[in-house]
Amino acid sequence: MVARFPNPWDVFVVGGGPAGLATAIAARRHGLSVVLADGAVPPIDKPCGEGLMPDGVEALHQLGITIPEGQAYPFRGIRFVSDGVKAEAAFPRGTAYGIRRIHLHRVMADHAEARGVHMLWQAAVTGLHPEGVLVAGKLVRARWVVGADGTSSRVRSWAKLDQHELDTPQKKNLRFAFRSHYRVAPWTGFMELHWGRHSQVYVTPVSREEVCVALISSGPKLRLEDGLAEFPELCTRLKNAEHASSERGAITVTRRLRRVYRNRAVLVGDASGGVDAITGEGLCLAFRQATLLGDCLASGDLGRYQNAHRALIRRPALMAHMMLFMAKHTHLRQRTMQVFQSSPRSFAGMLAMHVGQGSTRDHISNGIALGWQLLTA
Ligand SMILES: Cc1cc2nc3c(=O)[nH]c(=O)nc-3n(C[C@H](O)[C@H](O)[C@H](O)COP(=O)(O)OP(=O)(O)OC[C@H]3O[C@@H](n4cnc5c(N)ncnc54)[C@H](O)[C@@H]3O)c2cc1C
Repeated sequence: MVARFPNPWDVFVVGGGPAGLATAIAARRHGLSVVLADGAVPPIDKPCGEGLMPDGVEALHQLGITIPEGQAYPFRGIRFVSDGVKAEAAFPRGTAYGIRRIHLHRVMADHAEARGVHMLWQAAVTGLHPEGVLVAGKLVRARWVVGADGTSSRVRSWAKLDQHELDTPQKKNLRFAFRSHYRVAPWTGFMELHWGRHSQVYVTPVSREEVCVALISSGPKLRLEDGLAEFPELCTRLKNAEHASSERGAITVTRRLRRVYRNRAVLVGDASGGVDAITGEGLCLAFRQATLLGDCLASGDLGRYQNAHRALIRRPALMAHMMLFMAKHTHLRQRTMQVFQSSPRSFAGMLAMHVGQGSTRDHISNGIALGWQLLTA
């Protein structure tokens, strides 16, 4: 017999990372009563590239959140660096931010609290129940249970939504990441992506005196310091810089689900499937899903959430596919980089598509032009 909390809630959110907090805020904007539980203590850190693209900043604005000055560092575009060749482009509009995860978490958690979300920290959810969820063996009744509990979501398996994976995460879809912060002034107004034979490295400026460096590879044993050896220019820049955080590891998984809800349980963020971290689009996707889910919880129409969720993931999934293809095929990457360097418009067009800006017609004509340049390069 489980003990009962007195109040039934409209929404119980399992997980207080970016997706859970965003969903809690979105549901409160519709006047729903919301409780959120996370097993960790705030502010919650997580290994991440810490780049928030302009579409992510816009999605946060839609939730009523503006990042306060001093909490983040603006950057204006993306630079690719591969085999000594560089290509860069500015975002067509909007600003992107490098933001430490702990700062992002603090800003979002404060906003959620001010909006009236009831927070339970250090409170791991231990199971689903026909009437709600179990927290430390006690039943908390809720009409809806949102699984925002990340890549290894237990809500997903409790609700048997794991059985609806379109592509089981085989080894090839699993990648491994290590990140650390270095105390050094950012040397560019771009977020850099360095392409190597064995890994890719993101460098994101996160403050006036700090950069976040994240290495992603297919090898679980390739740590940051060893991986960086492949990038001599980067090593030189970081050589005398102090570590501003300890190295932390994470897994990034490409996962697509056929269903993202069953009965009263519904998934959001990385729990609901995800694209490889190379896209730097995970946060934006989570915020967009959360806004949509808030609407659908208020109307009680989770079928609409599922259809729109599928549509939302399409563009980041396509970009992830293209970038991973480039990562695997050195020769193609070298040719593409030459085209990007000699034709900055091609790179700017790809970047616009990546962050959801520009028209479909622009993307098609840019794609055709890029294909032609690759054939004739
Ligand atoms: C190396 C790397 C680099 C990345 N770089 C970028 C980037 O530059 N830009 C970008 O936009 N995205 C990036 N991403 C993706 C981004 O980090 C994720 O998409 C984002 O963190 C998803 O948020 P989430 O809330 O779904 O999951 P999480 O951030 O994982 O949060 C899940 C939360 O659930 C809690 N939880 C889990 N189980 C329970 C339970 N049983 N009870 C209670 N709480 C529970 C956890 O404590 C955690 O706080 C990167 C990812 C990786 C791995």
